Parts: sequence; C-alpha cells; structure tokens
Amino acid sequence: MVEYHASLSAEASAFLSGEHRLYIDGCWVEPMKEGVLHVQDPAKGSEISRVAEGRAADIDRAVIAARRAFENGPWHAMKPSGRASIMLALADLIDRQAQVLAEIETMETGKPLAFALGSVRSAANMLRYYAGWASNLGGREVPLSSAGEWHAYTRREPVGVVGQVIPWNFPLSMAVWKIAPVLATGCTSVLKPAEQTPLGALRLAALFEEAGVPAGVLNVVPGYGGDAGARLAAHPDVDKIAFTGSAETGRSIVQAALGNLKRVTLELGGKSPVIVLPDADMERAVPGAANAIFFNSGQVCAAGSRLFVHRKVFDNFVADVAVQGAKMKMGHGLDESSRVGPLISARQRARVQSMIEQGLAEGATIVGETAPIPDGKGYFVAPHVLADTNPDMSVIRDEIFGPVVCAIPFGDEDIDAIAKAANHTSYGLAASIWTQNLSAAHRLSNRIRSGNVAVNSHAIADVELPFGGYKESGWGRERGSEVLNHYTETKSVAIRLD
Ligand code: NAD
Repeated sequence: MVEYHASLSAEASAFLSGEHRLYIDGCWVEPMKEGVLHVQDPAKGSEISRVAEGRAADIDRAVIAARRAFENGPWHAMKPSGRASIMLALADLIDRQAQVLAEIETMETGKPLAFALGSVRSAANMLRYYAGWASNLGGREVPLSSAGEWHAYTRREPVGVVGQVIPWNFPLSMAVWKIAPVLATGCTSVLKPAEQTPLGALRLAALFEEAGVPAGVLNVVPGYGGDAGARLAAHPDVDKIAFTGSAETGRSIVQAALGNLKRVTLELGGKSPVIVLPDADMERAVPGAANAIFFNSGQVCAAGSRLFVHRKVFDNFVADVAVQGAKMKMGHGLDESSRVGPLISARQRARVQSMIEQGLAEGATIVGETAPIPDGKGYFVAPHVLADTNPDMSVIRDEIFGPVVCAIPFGDEDIDAIAKAANHTSYGLAASIWTQNLSAAHRLSNRIRSGNVAVNSHAIADVELPFGGYKESGWGRERGSEVLNHYTETKSVAIRLD
C-alpha cells in the first residue's frame, strides 16, 4: 500500500492507485506483451503508480484505429462546428477536474501545485482557442493567368494520422498542445507520453468519451521512447510525427521518419539568453531573471540559462538573483510553501549535478550561498548561479535542464556585439531583453536568432503567439495559427469553365 502525501485528495489518490491500461480505439486495453512503467513521486523518490507499458505492437494497433477513424466513421463526416463543440466540452471537463489533474501532475513531476494548476487551466484555454479555428481553416480563391476561363481555389485538408511524442516536464499541457490542433483540423492521433509521466495523459484520455471524441480519434499509448516512440516515428502508416523533447532524440525521429517521408515537426531544447542592460528596471529584472531559470526547477525548454549582464551592474545583479534562488523554498509540490520542486528522476539529478561539477572543475564559481537540500530521498538540486564561465565550457554550451544559470558580464553597449554573444549557441528557442530603452529593445530583438523574444519579461506562454525554435531548437511552430499549417496539407483545385 503506497502512502501518499497527506493533502492529496481522495479522488487523485484513487486514480494513482488504480489500474492503468492503454487507451486505444476508445477502449482501455491490456498491452499485447506484459510490461509495467513504474511512476515515481520525485519529491520522495518512491513509486506512486504502475502503468501498463505499450510497445511497438500496441502502437501498430493504435495506428490502425487512428487510420480507421480518419478514413471512415463519424469523425470523417463531422462538420467543423461538431469538432469545435467537442473541444469546448473537453475544455470544460478539464476545468471541472482542474484540481485533480493538477494534483496528479504534481505527484508525477514534483512541481508546486499552484504551477500545475496554472498549467492545467492554460491547457483548457488552449482547447478553446483552437475550437475557434476549426471553422476558420478555409483556403482561398486564386485568379489564374492560363488561357481560358477558370475557377481555382485552395483547400486545407487534414494531414492524416499523426504520431505525437511528448516529454515529462508538463505532462498534461504538452498532451493538450499536441491534441488541440489534431481536433481542430480533423486529423487523428496516437500520443505517446513520456515513460516517467504517463498519468496526466491517461487521466485526460478518461475525459475523451464524455467530451464526445469518437473512438480511434485520440489514442494514448504510454511506453519507452526506444520502443513505442521509435515505432511511432518509423511507422509507415503515420503521416506526420510531432515531437517535443531533446535535440538528440529529435535527430533519431528525423532518421526514423525518412522511410515514408512523413512530415516532421520538432520542439527541442534551448540555451536561452537573458540580457540585462544597465538601464533595466532592476525591481522587475532580478525576479524576472530568477524565474526565467528556476521556474519548474529549470526543466523548461525556454529556460533563461545564460544570463548576460552589463558590467556596470553585474556584481549586484547576479548576487541578487542568487539570493532570490536561495530564498525559493524547495519542497514537495503539495506543500503550499514550496516554490522549487525536485528534478524528475535520480538520473536527471545525477546529470545536472555532474554538469555543475564539470563547470566548477573548469573554473566556474558559485555566486552566493545555495539553499540546503530537503531531507529525504527526493531528487532535489538547489538553484545555482555560476560565474567565471567562458564560452568553451559545457555549462555554457549544453542544455542543463536544471536550476542552473551561467552569468556572463559584458562591457560593450554595442548592440551587434551583445547579439553576437547571445547568438553564440547551437540553439535558438527563446530570449529576453531587460531595458527601458525602446530603441535598444527593438534593435536587439531583431538581431537575436531565436523563435521567441520577450522584452521585460521571459518566455511568454500565450496560446496566440507561435512558439518554436531556430537552429537546433526545432522545426516548425506550435501555438498560434502557425501550428495549423503543420497539421494541414494545401490542395490546389483548378476547374476549367469554358
Ligand atoms: P527525450 O528526448 O529523452 O524524451 C522525450 C520523449 O521522447 C519521451 O516521450 C521519450 O520516451 C521519447 N523518446 C526517447 N527516445 C525516443 C526515440 N528514439 N524515438 C521516439 N521517441 C523517443 O527528452 P527528455 O529528456 O525527456 O525531455 C527534456 C528535453 O525536452 C529537453 O531537451 C527540453 O529542452 C526538451 N523540451 C522542449 C520543449 C519545446 O517545446 N521546445 C518543451 C519541453 C521540453
């Protein structure tokens, strides 16, 4: 009998201790071969749930169901308003169950409950936003120059069966980021959640039928990346693969997708710069820079992990960011006072710790005091600010995906020189600029090579704004209207009238 945290609701603990199968073709089914995923509470380092492990053969079953739902049946014939109603119903169900969904997210990721709740609410709103798009995906009439009389137009048609692979940092909202454009465009999906955090997507799947999603349209198959994930990426009857995760896995996905040249979109990692000019409003910039890296224990693709600060204000600024980090209380996500949760696993903690140690061995130093780690077996790493780094160090080059920021001084006010230093990375996902100088803000943001730039804020999460990366941070965009281009094919139709 697992002992859950004292403040976990009865509904969430009943869910965690229940049986979890695969969701294929509208039914909960056993996997073809016996196998189990052991889900942990990372704040305690103990098992909280067991989930059936789907493998390649289960992915094959799910793809058959998704193909059938795409080609035939109610989904194929459904009008955009019907799809929108389903999305709105699903959004309402998520809102109604927000507390339980957030508790489940906290239990499987370790993040503070308030952040999990925010993430759940934003997932519901994302469905509402894309519900509005379902009826707005028309093509356009095109005047032709060819001889004769023509009526020519374009149509936007669903790309087909989509494989979707997501990471563990935001299990529920990542799942909704993926399924919302599927529902809006009339595609069908096989979603594979991360092996560490399958529960959020499974709880979401339990709402599909009540929301009116027809069988086979959305299938959820938890499993390991190298087996279930790899099969989904390589599957010859999958038309598109949408992936969020590490750049390394992104490369495997691209290789696997070559067989049938399926469409590929990738949301990968980052090493995003936070740039503080000397005229910045420090009251906002200090907590802004601290949250940019310490939110979700740094396990955010857009985390501001390189902190560029003008030499005039460098010492005080980085000392203040370190103080902010040390003050954020580490603890179990269900303890109300916790601001920083654990990392997702012992493996991730070991990886982050070894990257910090390597940085220190190469000459980096820790700014200020780091907070003591909570007692127990949780996978905590304290917020760290590192100084005395140089561009060749791995802590500067590689994504750490933990609460570690490298502070780098600059003396130059030349915008091109600042942009060059910020762009010195293989990634290009996000950036933030802190200044009150309008001209510097615009000129710098134009020169930063990344998909998202925020001024006097970091990594804006609004659904209306497209999100994605330059360079090795990915292919394509999610959110906004842009993602819909990746879930539709454009067909040109030309009718000779004379
Ligand atoms: P990961 O690449 O190891 O795993 C992500 C997902 O891919 C998991 O579901 C995993 O099972 C699956 N996977 C692993 N190997 C696979 C394979 N060969 N074929 C198919 N699927 C496979 O990443 P992670 O360490 O779990 O997540 C952290 C990474 O995700 C970070 O690099 C982070 O920056 C990135 N991330 C990016 C975004 C974004 O939107 N750009 C968002 C969140 C996380």
